[in-house]
Amino acid sequence: MAGQAAKRDGSDPGGGGGKGATPGRRRLAIGMALFLLATGGILLALLGPRARPNVLLVTIDTLRADRLGCYGYGGAATPVLDGLAARGVRFATAVAHAPLTAPSHASILTGLLPLAHGVRDNGAFVLPPSPTTLAEVLQRAGYRTAAFVSGFPLDHRYGFARGFSTYDDHLSRGRDPQRAPYVERTADEASRRAGEWIRAAPSPWFAWVHFFDPHAPYAPPPDLAARFASSPYDGEIAFVDREMGRLLAAVEAGPGGTLVLVTSDHGESLGEHGEATHGVFVYDSTLLVPWIMAGPGIPRGRVARVVARGIDVAPTLLDYAGLDAPRAIEGRSLRPAADGMEMEDAPAYAESLFCRLNLGWTELHAWRTAGWKLVDAPRPELYDLGADPGETRDVSAARGEEGRALRSELQRALEARPPDASTVPSSESRERLRALGYVSATAPARPTGRDPKDGIALVERLERGLAEARARPALAVDELSAFLAEEPDAPLARRYRAIAYQFAGRYGESVADIQALEARGPLSLEDLTVLAESLRLARRPDEALAALDRAATLDPRAPEPLLLRGRSLRALGRSEEAKAALRQALDLAPESAEARRGLGELALERGAIDEAASFLEPIVAADATDVPALVKLGVVRMRQGHAREALPLFERAVALDPRNPEALVDLAGALGKSGRSPEAVPFFEKAIEVGGPTTAALNGLGVARLESGDAKGAARAFRESLTLDPRQARIADLLRQVSGGQR
Ligand SMILES: [Zn+2]
Repeated sequence: MAGQAAKRDGSDPGGGGGKGATPGRRRLAIGMALFLLATGGILLALLGPRARPNVLLVTIDTLRADRLGCYGYGGAATPVLDGLAARGVRFATAVAHAPLTAPSHASILTGLLPLAHGVRDNGAFVLPPSPTTLAEVLQRAGYRTAAFVSGFPLDHRYGFARGFSTYDDHLSRGRDPQRAPYVERTADEASRRAGEWIRAAPSPWFAWVHFFDPHAPYAPPPDLAARFASSPYDGEIAFVDREMGRLLAAVEAGPGGTLVLVTSDHGESLGEHGEATHGVFVYDSTLLVPWIMAGPGIPRGRVARVVARGIDVAPTLLDYAGLDAPRAIEGRSLRPAADGMEMEDAPAYAESLFCRLNLGWTELHAWRTAGWKLVDAPRPELYDLGADPGETRDVSAARGEEGRALRSELQRALEARPPDASTVPSSESRERLRALGYVSATAPARPTGRDPKDGIALVERLERGLAEARARPALAVDELSAFLAEEPDAPLARRYRAIAYQFAGRYGESVADIQALEARGPLSLEDLTVLAESLRLARRPDEALAALDRAATLDPRAPEPLLLRGRSLRALGRSEEAKAALRQALDLAPESAEARRGLGELALERGAIDEAASFLEPIVAADATDVPALVKLGVVRMRQGHAREALPLFERAVALDPRNPEALVDLAGALGKSGRSPEAVPFFEKAIEVGGPTTAALNGLGVARLESGDAKGAARAFRESLTLDPRQARIADLLRQVSGGQR
């Protein structure tokens, strides 16, 4: 069992990587690992729960191992993670089981392969109640448990919260109006919230912190964006590394030893194999992740060569905590390898069902030993990882024997049937997943069975179309039309072209695309919400409301149709019905900022100021970057006569979104009312510049200029306001006074 580690180095590239995985030898290795696990457990159990280490599990989404300094990357700025590796153990090869966030995290947290835990894609599956999770084992052993996740695919609705007393999945609204809100939070916010919890938690505690930043789109904070202008992905990694430093400082400030394990759910293709991001293929570009751990009992500066796998995370952590792993677990503790003992490499299964579930193509399965990888596809591929780590030369024709051996192992693994874990997520969930570049479970009725490698260029066009449907709708229409020319039955592409048409103002074509979908099969809830929005914008409100009624009957638990109904009814001036719809939405989704904001705005409109405050205050308390809520709460404070409290709200809104005309006008108005008219003038001017002239902005500007001693400027503003609306008697009066009775 000694030779396998060396073979990974490529010293024996043609060697028996497949042979090392024969069942007999594997059982022997597992037996050895179980023995070590049991003895370690007994020793620590004798010490009692007080001696148990705290456990910090950090998963950095979308992090390729080979982009960290400690894994040999020259362009890295990752001193914190490199330092952690220097005072702990780093596994040179660690493999994820799926290139997708939810399935891979489910494997990390349960020690089970996707085939066993049943989470096969983002957004379309919920972790079933049967597998015992790492958090549950630790919680039962007396650990305080908390999770801080930063991406929507790990929202509590997908079942990952089990075993955590605190599950913080609060995502910020985000600042880019062209992206869907509430899809991710940045590393500074995640490390701050996790750090606060860690500082206050009594030992032993278990915290899982998930950073999302290296996931596309790559947008590091300004200083790192400048430094990594040509490689913003590395800038995101540097940002997470910096925040890791803060997190570790919080850990070190507390009592008790802490075991830290840092890994990732998958890598990023960065153009390799024609794939820009991740999710389609099962090559090492998106499967190799870092595995770094340090803490009590872990030697310093060791690099372990045995192949580590996602399913090994939970049993390894439980081993160090002195706890038994659940019996069903498929991974093994790698503690012996960390201690410098030889361990035989275990094979890794990997899969992506993305193309089948979303496009009606085929799914991919892979069987990976230390030296070889088989990718099972309509045209299977075999790679000699020792000689060809980039997986660029398919040797299946020349190396039939290796291929057959791997295939029979893969076949055995696939015979285990997964539990039924699927549920129907709401259209709102899908929208937020898609904003991250994910799509979910909308395969065409007539699947084409295309091999993903024959369609990767099409996938790239589809993804560009999905990503740009709102921001650059004309480009998105082109990309999606190109996709539809090849795959006319793909509902996803047609639905997204309908959205792109909507954002391009081509409402008729948007409605026509949804009608074309209906001709091919029943419309989904999401189709109906797109249809309703395009009908509303095309000023066909009754048809829009009828579409929303149909959507609500499809899934009475979905808040999205009710939110849109509230918006449509408000626009029609039917406030009472709008309020009822938003109330229902809030019942279904008690955290919904949209429902609260809508109700707050309706209360404000009818002068129920305190009620408006009761809806708006919790939004701002939960997310200090929610610009629309900041503005409306500022208006509430003004109406309550608290200009001094309103000002900082408006100031924050303008700082977050400097081109928001409503925030600019309100800030200017509050400055004027606080006797600071000269300061108000430029904000009124800016509001008019970015939002166009309105009577409110022009009148405010006129008054502010007047109070600043600029009578001529005031007259200009009043005059322009009167051309917009000549019926303003008071403004006409003011203009007469300012211009000394002459017009
Ligand atoms: Zn991920």
